[in-house]
Amino acid sequence: MEAKRSAALFERAVKCIPGGVNSPVRAYGSVGMTPRFIQGANGPYVFDEDGNKYIDYIGSWGPMILGHNNPMILEAVVKTCQSGLSFGAATRLEVEMAEFICQNIRHMDMVRMVNSGTEAVMSAIRAARGYTGRNIIVKFAGCYHGHCDAMLVKAGSGVMTAGIPDSAGVPKGCTQDTMTAVYNDLDSVREIFSRYPDQVAAVIVEPVAANMGVVLPEDGFLQGLQELCRANGAVFILDEVITGFRLAFGGAAEYYGLEPDLRTYGKIIGAGMPVGAYGGKKEIMEMVAPVGPVYQAGTLSGNPVAMAAGLAQLRFLYENPRVYSQMADTAALLFDGMEKLLAKYEIPCTMNRIASLGCLYFTREHVTNYEIAGHSDTEAFAGYFRYMIDHGIHLGPSQFEAMFISASHTEETTEETLAAFEGWLKEGK
Ligand SMILES: *Cc1c(COP(=O)(O)O)cnc(C)c1O
Repeated sequence: MEAKRSAALFERAVKCIPGGVNSPVRAYGSVGMTPRFIQGANGPYVFDEDGNKYIDYIGSWGPMILGHNNPMILEAVVKTCQSGLSFGAATRLEVEMAEFICQNIRHMDMVRMVNSGTEAVMSAIRAARGYTGRNIIVKFAGCYHGHCDAMLVKAGSGVMTAGIPDSAGVPKGCTQDTMTAVYNDLDSVREIFSRYPDQVAAVIVEPVAANMGVVLPEDGFLQGLQELCRANGAVFILDEVITGFRLAFGGAAEYYGLEPDLRTYGKIIGAGMPVGAYGGKKEIMEMVAPVGPVYQAGTLSGNPVAMAAGLAQLRFLYENPRVYSQMADTAALLFDGMEKLLAKYEIPCTMNRIASLGCLYFTREHVTNYEIAGHSDTEAFAGYFRYMIDHGIHLGPSQFEAMFISASHTEETTEETLAAFEGWLKEGK
């Protein structure tokens, strides 16, 4: 497969963009390649600058749940653009978005729009701290909550560690109140609560951890967290940036029957435009300026074009619940098919999957947390990735990314993907 134009663009890019990319997950370093530059996309397919066509399992990391270039969303965007792009003043579309969310998502009293998932998390944490008057935030190793300073902590080998920054440029002061617990291990959370009585402002969790591959919550884990938060007066924050409107319309909260105090959204809520949101209980959300003392703002927040795109997508999902069963059927065909082939060729891999998310781990172990995910053979993943992209399958270029299935994937894309997968099993390994 020819990738000359992508290679030429990358050569130009690295001279003026750090690493040639505007977000590290787009670099192909960990798979020993240079990125394919995407020229366009339609439905389940993306096309690169060299004219190659791929079945896409990135879906812009989640937002394109209805597939790329959806005509209904495009129409909403174009129509809204014609009245101007941004006013820095209140608009009808913001009200419609907020009403739509609060009316159709349970336990959402109020919502504030922002421009990214990172901003949503950063703001939710600030609101939780303002509301409780406490400082400590509990997160889980391997959960990604965007790149704000306080969240760039993951505590290596699954041992609880207080405040070791993962990133240069993050002062210790910014992370000293971030405690890291072990995913699926309630005892690790209990220990933090007992070590810091009345000091924990919030526990934040990805209800399905989809930034260390795909790690599912074990029975009782999320409910247990919610109870621990209630018992200790801490705010329970679900980071639904990936799971929101994906596991179900009401996200993981609906799927697992949870009542989070706050929720963060991103990705699907913007349908491909830069959008995030946080919301939840009125008494917490009313801490936010201009009602309350917690400052949070944004020049482009609630941008009309972004609201139009997001609303069109959310309305469609709400009105067409069959989208979820259809994606589940596609996912079952694909992931069952992959599992069968793994068994047939006796490959030491594990599939983790839920709804329209899946991850093929290059380890035999049952992956339930960050430490175990880290046992995966990333070299073997790289070989698999290279084979798949050369056979027209666009996967996230890392062992620790999910495969995203959209409503536009079909039996045909599944069959083609399985054929490529079997090809790799036969000749690629
Ligand atoms: C992507 C992601 C974020 C960050 O969102 P951005 O829009 O990239 O800032 C936060 N939390 C989770 C769970 C995510 O997957």
